[in-house]
Order: sequence, then structure tokens, then C-alpha cells
Amino acid sequence: MDSCLFCRIVDGRIPANIVYQDEQVLAFEDINAQAPVHILVIPTRHVAAVQDCQDGDKTLLGHLLLTCSNVARMKNLAESGYRIVTNTGADSGQTVFHLHMHVLGGRHMTWPPG
Ligand code: AMP
Ligand code: ZN
Repeated sequence: MDSCLFCRIVDGRIPANIVYQDEQVLAFEDINAQAPVHILVIPTRHVAAVQDCQDGDKTLLGHLLLTCSNVARMKNLAESGYRIVTNTGADSGQTVFHLHMHVLGGRHMTWPPG
């Protein structure tokens, strides 16, 4: 999708600090980090949000979640802990409508989120 920011990162037309990639997923540093570690994990195929996923996306969704876990391990967060967030729709504050999971860590998180 030409108009989609994250599709353009997948295509390499917009630069990003990539920490992991394979055919199905891409992980890169958030440009406006909200924690010492803030990585976004996205599918390489355009999907707007989690509610747009179908039964056929089960493997992809599992792969995204496992990639979050692997990235967290790579960033030495496995012991200290971390948060995985997927904003979905207007009330959540989603601003980029290409499915992404935030992996946040390196500081203590509060609950509930704002
Ligand atoms: P959300 O608000 O859940 O849709 O998250 C979108 C995230 O994308 C925000 O945390 C932004 O800081 C991040 N973001 C926006 N543009 C870029 C970019 N060019 N490279 C990396 N992260 C970005
Ligand atoms: Zn996209």
C-alpha cells in the first residue's frame, strides 16, 4: 500500500533501524521511544489492525507474538519484564493503521495505562 507508512518501511522507501526481519514480519525501533527499549513488530503484508485478521491469519499472529518475545530476549528484557501493546482503533490511540505490536521495556510500567 503506497499510502501506508509501515508498508513503505517494509519496502525500504522509508528508513528504519531494523532489529529483525524475515518473510512474514519486520521489527524496528519506534521513532518516538516511550521506554529505553521500544520496538515495533509488524507483518510485512498490509493488515490494518488486529480486528481485520481472519482465521487464515492465525499463524501470522502467532509469529508476531513469538517475534515480540524473541526481540525482548535479544534486548535483554526477558528477566526484567516488558509490555506488548497493540492499539486497535480510535479509542486506543492507534495512529498508524498497519497492524503493529509495541514491545516496551527497560523501565517500570504502571497500570492502568493512560
Ligand atoms: P500507534 O499509536 O499504536 O498506532 O503507534 C504508532 C507508532 O509508530 C508510534 O509509537 C510512533 O512513534 C511510531 N512511528 C511513527 N512513524 C514512525 C517511523 N517512521 N519509524 C518508526 N516508528 C514510527
Ligand atoms: Zn501497510
